Amino acid sequence: MKPSLTDTLCTRCGLCCDGSLFADVELAGASEAAGLEAMGLEIEDDENGLLLLPCGALRGKLCGIYAHRPECCRTFECRLLQDARRGAVTVERAGEHIAEALKRVARVRELAVELGQRDVRLPLKERYAEALALADDAGTDAALNRKRAELEAEMNAVEGLIRRRFLGQGNPR
Ligand code: SF4
Ligand code: SF4
Repeated sequence: MKPSLTDTLCTRCGLCCDGSLFADVELAGASEAAGLEAMGLEIEDDENGLLLLPCGALRGKLCGIYAHRPECCRTFECRLLQDARRGAVTVERAGEHIAEALKRVARVRELAVELGQRDVRLPLKERYAEALALADDAGTDAALNRKRAELEAEMNAVEGLIRRRFLGQGNPR
């Protein structure tokens, strides 16, 4: 049997779960929130509850609570997955976009750590903001300033890629 697109692409991605695309997942209500909290996941009180990302259920690139994942995770499809489904992008090309995004996200994280940012439980944008603040505190150190510049350039590239390919904002070409 031919593997589904989700099996082919999402299992090597995880960007919508690991804090790169989003900072949280909107939950369907109090009982869904309570169920996830009972599984040890971090939930923020909101009208219906928010599952904080990076998700504690993520195992590598796979969902560790797949059968019990929230409604929003069941129904979400990023733009890239939708484009691959309707043939607007080949599966091979979609895989290349995922690989590029993962590589750039990894570099942003690496640079953030090199600048002293340590809390890996934060979403990517927050890690980036913390790293920039730490770099600003470092003053005129030339090596740190080079890293800061690289971090800004890499994060710009990541955000552009995410907007165009994964969130479908702006011209994807
Ligand atoms: S970002 Fe898209 S391709 Fe990646 S895991 Fe999420 S839905 Fe799948
Ligand atoms: S519950 Fe599963 S699908 Fe939903 S964000 Fe967490 S790891 Fe991803």
